Amino acid sequence: MGIQTWERRDAEAPAAVSEAEATPLPDAGADSAVLAPDAPVEHAARSETVQPSGQDDASVQQLDWDALAARVAGCTACELHRSRTQTVFGVGDRRADWMVIGEAPGAEEDRQGEPFVGRAGQLLNNMLLAMGLKREQVYIANILKCRPPKNRDPRLEEVVCCEPYLARQVDLLQPKIILAVGRIAAQNLLKTDSSLARMRGRVFHYGESRVPVVVTYHPAYLLRTPRAKRKAWEDLQFAMRVHAEGRE
Ligand code: SF4
Repeated sequence: MGIQTWERRDAEAPAAVSEAEATPLPDAGADSAVLAPDAPVEHAARSETVQPSGQDDASVQQLDWDALAARVAGCTACELHRSRTQTVFGVGDRRADWMVIGEAPGAEEDRQGEPFVGRAGQLLNNMLLAMGLKREQVYIANILKCRPPKNRDPRLEEVVCCEPYLARQVDLLQPKIILAVGRIAAQNLLKTDSSLARMRGRVFHYGESRVPVVVTYHPAYLLRTPRAKRKAWEDLQFAMRVHAEGRE
């Protein structure tokens, strides 16, 4: 199963995956709370609002986009600045409805200064296309703006240091929905240690403006585990319904 399975087949119907994997949802499995495709969006029992809580950096919350990008580019607030090639601020439409949040830059992102490039980025692009969205129509950012050495998981102190930047990005963007991709991104964004399986199919909320958050798999995981693409497509359909219905 390659990346191409996420290509949209026509302009009307977002049939995104191959025949084998496009079979409708509910093989959600015992580890999933994902709803059937036509079911109304319901709040998860644990739907909750998550407030950003990192360092109280009031000055960051005053910055506009360009000033924020400049602040991040020069940031030395945590140890990750020592090993980065460059910061990876974020990319996309600064007025987008959709915001995609991943974990942290990898090696290629660190080299190029852009989130979600390489094969995982291509798959993300195709996932977005399957939803009727071009990459340029969404805004893509990470929890961390600098690459952790050897792609290790972000440490709590790094997340806390970097959090005001992401919070400000969300404030400036005011997205209608956030798609958190991958367990690490979701756990850090939502401040939970829940498994990805428990977070899928639920609507969380982020920040004072209570932006709805839906969780799905990281494209890098999908490249390694193609059988999960069907569940990921369920998540994307769920997210599209949340977005379309404008529910909290
Ligand atoms: S990861 Fe975030 S807090 Fe740490 S140096 Fe980079 S920009 Fe600054």
